Amino acid sequence: MSLAGPAAVILAAELGDAVTLGASMAPLCTYKVGGTAAALVEVESVSQLKAIRDVVAGDLVPTLMVGRGSNLLVSDSGFDGIAVRLGDGYGQVSVNKPANQSVNKSEAELLAGGSALMPVVARQSAAAGLTGLEWAVGVPGTIGGGVRMNAGGHGSEIAANLIDVSVFDLYNGGPRTVTAAQLELSYRHSNLKSSDLVLEARFALQACDPEEAKTLISEIVRWRRENQPGGQNAGSVFTNPDNDSAGRLIDQAGLKGYRIGTAEVSTKHANFIQADPGGSADDVRSLIQHIQAVVLDASGVSLVPENRMIGFDQ
Ligand SMILES: Cc1cc2nc3c(=O)[nH]c(=O)nc-3n(C[C@H](O)[C@H](O)[C@H](O)COP(=O)(O)OP(=O)(O)OC[C@H]3O[C@@H](n4cnc5c(N)ncnc54)[C@H](O)[C@@H]3O)c2cc1C
Repeated sequence: MSLAGPAAVILAAELGDAVTLGASMAPLCTYKVGGTAAALVEVESVSQLKAIRDVVAGDLVPTLMVGRGSNLLVSDSGFDGIAVRLGDGYGQVSVNKPANQSVNKSEAELLAGGSALMPVVARQSAAAGLTGLEWAVGVPGTIGGGVRMNAGGHGSEIAANLIDVSVFDLYNGGPRTVTAAQLELSYRHSNLKSSDLVLEARFALQACDPEEAKTLISEIVRWRRENQPGGQNAGSVFTNPDNDSAGRLIDQAGLKGYRIGTAEVSTKHANFIQADPGGSADDVRSLIQHIQAVVLDASGVSLVPENRMIGFDQ
């Protein structure tokens, strides 16, 4: 039996309908490819998290936190571990805005659950007359995944407004508050571990004219439609090297439209890979490795994947 098999069976017995054994990961990832996890647990309470912790912590059974899967590539042979996803109950967004302050000076706090979608949070904060998270309208992930990745765009990132997060470490203890500084956020990086689950995040935002924030959101949405492809992809495959763009380097290496099996370098944006319907994660992975080799040869730059690759040999 697999490493995670016994843990999966125990969790199914303890948590019932919240657990899917042999869960297919493809529908949970925007590439829409990949194999199964030993079990997927859809979490709606801290008591369920404690039950998972009690099963996985002793043997350090591998765990994978799953948001919208918009940065995940799970291998065709799957993930021998427990995948954990926060349910809708963790998708709440609330604003705490001090009364009687002038628009230009007031600050407010926004609290968002780990499964809240970033585009939804961006639109709700704009509608509440708050500025700082408009960029997030273009990032199709959750707040939890956004914090883990220090997601960003259009000149900003999660780190710019984050105050702190509530984190549950499935290998060690219960929920604890971690400040933004403690997360050591940098370009598409935090120090969160694979056993850390972000339950909630608190942001400091500035008051603004809601119409200005909504206009900025419309401009970002238009820019995305014009410059990025839709379909089965996971956004930027590689991080940008210092003072350069991964897309430019891939394009310059002549790889736009290059295909391996069911995976193709987008013809619209060279730093995106499109997977075919019914395609293979291993083809996407092979294409990632091919791009790295060709770009290294062409320009001497070693591209670093931004996509999180799960269940592949190193
Ligand atoms: C069309 C498109 C455009 C994109 N544009 C951008 C962009 O402009 N900027 C950008 O930064 N990214 C972009 N992305 C990538 C992706 O949306 C971000 O990385 C996003 O933050 C991932 O969130 P997610 O919920 O989908 O996380 P997932 O892809 O599910 O997971 C990503 C990582 O976060 C971890 N994780 C997920 N949820 C939690 C949680 N609750 N607690 C702890 N860890 C968790 C996972 O284990 C994994 O390591 C884009 C993707 C697509 C498909």
